[in-house]
Amino acid sequence: MLVAQLGSELIVAHHDLNRKKAYCCPVCQTKVILKLGTKIIPHFAHQSTATCISSEAETPEHLAGKVLLQLFFPQFQLEVYLPELKQRADLLWEIRALEFQCSPLSFPRFLERTYGYLASGYQPVWIFGKALQPEHKLTQLQKACLQFEAKKGFYLYGLDVTHQHFLLFRYVHWSYETGLSYQKIATNLTRQQQKSVKSTRRSSRFSYSEWLQQQLATKRKDIVQLQGKCYQHNQHLCYLAEWIYQESTFGLLFEHAVLYYRILFLKAASYVEWRALMTNEVISWTYPFLDREVVLHAFFLECIRLSKRTFS
Ligand SMILES: [Zn+2]
Repeated sequence: MLVAQLGSELIVAHHDLNRKKAYCCPVCQTKVILKLGTKIIPHFAHQSTATCISSEAETPEHLAGKVLLQLFFPQFQLEVYLPELKQRADLLWEIRALEFQCSPLSFPRFLERTYGYLASGYQPVWIFGKALQPEHKLTQLQKACLQFEAKKGFYLYGLDVTHQHFLLFRYVHWSYETGLSYQKIATNLTRQQQKSVKSTRRSSRFSYSEWLQQQLATKRKDIVQLQGKCYQHNQHLCYLAEWIYQESTFGLLFEHAVLYYRILFLKAASYVEWRALMTNEVISWTYPFLDREVVLHAFFLECIRLSKRTFS
C-alpha cells in the first residue's frame, strides 16, 4: 500500500521518508511500517499478517503503476477505501474508480468487484498490467473489460510501467480470417507520444467452411457442440449461405457462435422473434460495460445488411 494514516492526515509513502513515525492503516487502524528498499518503491506494509483488505501482497509493478497512474491523472486520489463496498479503489476521482490489475484475477471475483462498483454508482475502469494485456487471443477477463465507442470501436486500457506508457488498445476486432487485431496507442507521460502497432495472427490457407470441416473431423469440442445446435435447425456448419461466413463486428464477443446466431436470424420473422430465440444464448451476459440489448440490436442490423434480406 502507498497511503497510510498519520494522526488525522493521509500520507503517501514517497512523499514522506521517515521510518520512525507512527503510521497506521487507514482501513483497519493497525500499525504499518514504511518500507524503503532498493527494488520496490517506498510503500507501507502491515506489521502483522492481519486479515485487512489492504494487507494483500502487492507486486512492484502494481505499486509503481499506481504512482504512475496518478502522474497521468493528477485529479485522482490514491487508494481510496470505500466502506459501503468494503473495498479499496486503486485510484478514485468522484465516481470514477481505476483498477490497475497486474496479476490473474478469478472471473467471479472480477464480476463481483465490477458489479459492486456499478451498483453503488461508481464507474470502474480496469487497466491491465503487462501479464494481462492482449496478445493473440482475448481472455474472458479481457473481453469482459471491453468498452465500445464509435470512434474507438471496442477498446481496452493497459499500463506499461517499465516504459511509462499509458496504453489504449482500440479497434479490437476478431474474425476467422485475421484472428485478433487491434491498434495499440502508447502515450508517454512527458511527451504524449503515440505509436500504432497492428497485430494480426493468421491468414489461413483454408476457407472458413473448410476449416470448420477440419475441426469437426478432429472433434474439436466447441465446434462439435455448435454443429449440434445448427443440426436442430436442419443446418450444417460447412454448408451455410455465403453471407453467414462473413466477418462480424461482434465476432470479438461471440467468435464462432456468430454462425449460429445468424442461422437463428434466418429462422425469425422479426427482431422480436429473433431476440426470443436468442434468450438462452445470452442469459448470462458477462460484459459489464456493454449493453446487451444495444449489442444484440446492432448484431441484428448487421445480419440484415449482410443477408440483404428485407422485412415486410
Ligand atoms: Zn489494514
